[in-house]
Amino acid sequence: MSINYDRLFKRLVNACERLGWSVVLDDIDSEACFLEKKITISKSKAPSIRFHMLMHELGHVLIEELPTSIDVKRPNSGMHKTTTSIHKTLVLSDECAAWDRGYYHATSVLRLKFDKRLFEMSRAKYIKTYASWLLRTKKQILDNA
Ligand SMILES: [Zn+2]
Repeated sequence: MSINYDRLFKRLVNACERLGWSVVLDDIDSEACFLEKKITISKSKAPSIRFHMLMHELGHVLIEELPTSIDVKRPNSGMHKTTTSIHKTLVLSDECAAWDRGYYHATSVLRLKFDKRLFEMSRAKYIKTYASWLLRTKKQILDNA
């Protein structure tokens, strides 16, 4: 079975637009701008990766705009210095939550069919990036804020 990732991407774009968000392709890294309600996806990536990234960014949007009982309210990560273990752990946790929430929305709400293993590979690749950033911290102890 060949999967049309451009078509799947468009389904996610529609889901974003229903929430009042726009999606653009650009040369920068993928991100969600809450001020402009705009998701940017890196256009240099393969269609499958663009789809995975949009699913992740949609996860961030859904957690903010349509929080559920499982979206834990945590202290604002801005309270902590960006180099502390507390801050970095909050970021890692939020990133994992966005991957999970986006995946849930794509599979259970939109019922999109795609290669789950390929998705898990993307998820693992990006989570490893956050995890290695977390482990690079100079302070190994929690700050006493
Ligand atoms: Zn993210």
